[in-house]
Amino acid sequence: MPSRPTAPSSASPAAVGAPPIWTNIILFSLTFLAAAVLVPWYGFTHGFSVAAWALFGVFLIGNEMSITAGYHRLWAHRTYDAHWSLRLLFVILGSMALQNSAWAWCSGHRRHHLNVDDVERDPYSALRGFWFSHIGWMVREYPSGREDFSNIPDLKRDRLLAFQHRHYVPLVLVTNLGLPLLAGWLVGDLWGTFFLAGVLRLVVSHHFTFFINSLAHMWGERPYTEENTARDNPVLAVLTFGEGYHNFHHNFAHDYRNGVRWWQWDPTKWLIASLQWVGLTRRLKRTPVFHIQRALLAMQFTRAQRKLASLPAAAAATRVSELRQRMAHEYDSFLAAVAEWAKVKEQWLEEKKRAVIEHWEHASFQQQLKELERRLRLQRRRLRLLQSQLA
Ligand SMILES: [Zn+2]
Ligand SMILES: [Zn+2]
Repeated sequence: MPSRPTAPSSASPAAVGAPPIWTNIILFSLTFLAAAVLVPWYGFTHGFSVAAWALFGVFLIGNEMSITAGYHRLWAHRTYDAHWSLRLLFVILGSMALQNSAWAWCSGHRRHHLNVDDVERDPYSALRGFWFSHIGWMVREYPSGREDFSNIPDLKRDRLLAFQHRHYVPLVLVTNLGLPLLAGWLVGDLWGTFFLAGVLRLVVSHHFTFFINSLAHMWGERPYTEENTARDNPVLAVLTFGEGYHNFHHNFAHDYRNGVRWWQWDPTKWLIASLQWVGLTRRLKRTPVFHIQRALLAMQFTRAQRKLASLPAAAAATRVSELRQRMAHEYDSFLAAVAEWAKVKEQWLEEKKRAVIEHWEHASFQQQLKELERRLRLQRRRLRLLQSQLA
């Protein structure tokens, strides 16, 4: 369970006197400066070809998706299984994204989920401020960022990831210099492609991904839980290929989707789901709809209770007590539905275990679970109405 947010503490030993990591400082500064100065200068003096812009797009998408679908949803959270050819592609384009090896990335990310917002243990706790959670955590040797691979025993058994970790620097150089130069040479715009698909692509993909640790913990809604700072934000979802639905993700990290509703912008989930059709991904994990509805309703109750408590006692006392009664009634029926769902699910699993389940029984359990989901959905609608009366 994620720990509760603790107050930021500037005097924390974690923040005092951490030695700078010069390689990262120089790398982030030089690439940023090159993207801000050299790229526009080259554009004005020489111009960029359409092919160079297209390659910028291809490599940017390839890098970001290798981080979101590969590093994040496949390796850090194991939300599905992938064919070796896809894993190889994620390793190549993930190395190009220059966000460390999958071992280091996933180990830090698992610690982030386990200790989210903890200023001492979350490697990029948003409670230490925008700068720290965006990039600051990578430019100094903070105790919270200390490398410890004890939480990735599964990934340490993966020979491909072991190879990537061991040969990370050559892989970074070959992919970041070799691929854009080779592509540029092939399309006849060597330097234009190098500046756009090499330099600008790296900086843009860096900061778009970094937004997940900074902005996605600061800006947006919290429909599923207020236990941590993670937010759902459709604007960030566009920049981060679906990872902007971060509140859902922190609550249901084992789901291959972050934007769980079909209309929510999450190209990563579309990629993972469509690759299933051609056999490149399988065993996609989904959170039961009931669990999602339950979390949404529980949050709605919390908000409604807060509003009720803040109503002035003297004002329309009878109306308030009536609303309170209705709320209590709704809450009882919510708890009853949750208990019933757990019972039906348990019976179903029992039957499944004994392997005596007949087709009609299976269908009947499914039916009961569906009916309970429908009840929660209706209840959410009633609660929204009740909340509007509280406003
Ligand atoms: Zn997070
Ligand atoms: Zn995650």
